[in-house]
Amino acid sequence: MSFTIHGIGVSGGIAIGHAHLVSHTKLEAAHYDIPAEQVTEEIARFERAVHTVRNELDQVRSVVPAGAPAEFAAFIDLHLMILNDATLSITPRKIIETENCNAEWALQVQTDELLQQFDAIEDTYLRERRTDVIQVAQRVMKALSGQPGYVPPPASDSGRNLVLVAHDLSPADVVLFKQHQFASFVTDLGGATSHTAIVARSLNIPCIVALHHARQLVRENEIIIVDGTQGVIIVDPDPQVLAEYQLRQREFGLERQKLKRLRDTPARTLDGTDIELHANIELPGDVALAIDSGATGIGLFRTEFLFLNRPDLPTEDEQFEAYRMVLEEMQGYPVTIRTYDLGADKQIDDTARLAPNPALGLRAIRLCLTEPKRFVTQLRAMLRASSYGSMKILIPMLMNASEIDQALQLVEQAKRSLDDEGVTYDRDVQIGGMVEIPAAALALGLLTKRLDFLSVGTNDLIQYMLAVDRTDDTVAHLYDPLHPAVLTLLSHIFTTAGKAQIPVAVCGEMAGDVTLTRLLLALGLRRLSMHSAHLPDVKQRVLKTSLPDIRPIAKKMLKATDPVKLRSMLDKLNA
Ligand code: PEP
Ligand code: MG
Repeated sequence: MSFTIHGIGVSGGIAIGHAHLVSHTKLEAAHYDIPAEQVTEEIARFERAVHTVRNELDQVRSVVPAGAPAEFAAFIDLHLMILNDATLSITPRKIIETENCNAEWALQVQTDELLQQFDAIEDTYLRERRTDVIQVAQRVMKALSGQPGYVPPPASDSGRNLVLVAHDLSPADVVLFKQHQFASFVTDLGGATSHTAIVARSLNIPCIVALHHARQLVRENEIIIVDGTQGVIIVDPDPQVLAEYQLRQREFGLERQKLKRLRDTPARTLDGTDIELHANIELPGDVALAIDSGATGIGLFRTEFLFLNRPDLPTEDEQFEAYRMVLEEMQGYPVTIRTYDLGADKQIDDTARLAPNPALGLRAIRLCLTEPKRFVTQLRAMLRASSYGSMKILIPMLMNASEIDQALQLVEQAKRSLDDEGVTYDRDVQIGGMVEIPAAALALGLLTKRLDFLSVGTNDLIQYMLAVDRTDDTVAHLYDPLHPAVLTLLSHIFTTAGKAQIPVAVCGEMAGDVTLTRLLLALGLRRLSMHSAHLPDVKQRVLKTSLPDIRPIAKKMLKATDPVKLRSMLDKLNA
């Protein structure tokens, strides 16, 4: 019988294949008493299991396929870190000893305790690391039962596409996907910012998370359609539906092939206006995809990802190497490196997490200014790297004059310290600011007078304008880039920056939404930076756009307040 399940699509496209259910061990252990004389052996059994898992993870790490996204290694390191932490590797031993219980029970008790602590955490990013703890505990549980940690599916047979259906998948499991060429994978658990979702996007295969009961409802080998764009799976489809999706899949494939051919085509509108299309990256390993997509620069390097998933801070040399690598690989194309935007949903310590409202608290430049030493370390690393290409520095969340002035003073301090050491750097390096707070957008002169360029972070700008927490899915339906206030403010930013003759880009998600490309261009934007996967689509839209034709519609949109009318005008703009 055919049925559909809805989840959160985290990577677009259509896959059709046979379901392959991935077995998983739930954290449900039986409890039994261990006679006192066997406790030492029970502890040894637990230690052997931890050792086995350590070996498994080491092995997975050593087979990370060349070209795999850099996050893979970081995820495995995180799992090794969790495994090696005393709370998971030592405390269960003590429980076995004091309670004379079996190793599985001790592990479950300790994991439950840890998970309760995670549940109390409000921060989304950290809360989602709860999944990592479960995945590591499951591996140890499997090792205790004598099962291998990862049972590879049947060797990939190219004639038959496999759709992996799992309750949950660890990034360490996902790392092996490349070798098995799955068509897609879907999971019951996971949020849009979970590690599995992040990896899925990098793999570029259709993927859906948060399906809740797929693992229970789908049977091995059943035909399954995955529509990653819509976030829906269709199990055991009837012949007409299957034929329809086969057609859509072919069309999607052809479209992608066609788009690939645009890689070296300049992004120029029909009326001859050049548009800059840059890529957003999180780690140096993302550069290859950016180049492949035809990006003519990196518009946003979110450096805070270098600070996450690790117990310590990256040193100046480590940061320098990361920035240098990106600059060298981009071979002279401009690279905009953002100073770390930690705090809010990306935290490295308790400071922001304990704040009453982290998104309005010590975040980004505010946090940097409270830790000038850490900030200067990053600035020095950036400046040192600036000799290896065309680099710009971008500062997030600027809001008032004093912040900008302090940040610029710290840049000067970093430069002076390099001068004292005789280290060379690009003396004319440009410093830009992100427009993410409505106050900064309205009083744009504060920024235009002090900075060399601007980049609009629409993700935050919209969150702060509409008072809609971007990480809270209960208010996600209120998050509206087409809200009249958003359009008015964007138009104001582009016009004001134009008058001040200061370059302005958009690097928030709006830039990668092809349905908004024409609107942004018509409002005056000429520089967009987005995830590499979106770039070919956006370029194609640019190539088919005539600015004189769309300007009048956008002008009308700026005056409209009715959401239905706005939508229909947008449709007209995109027709
Ligand atoms: C933004 O806010 O739009 C942006 C690009 O920054 P981030 O998504 O990293 O907050
Ligand atoms: Mg932002």
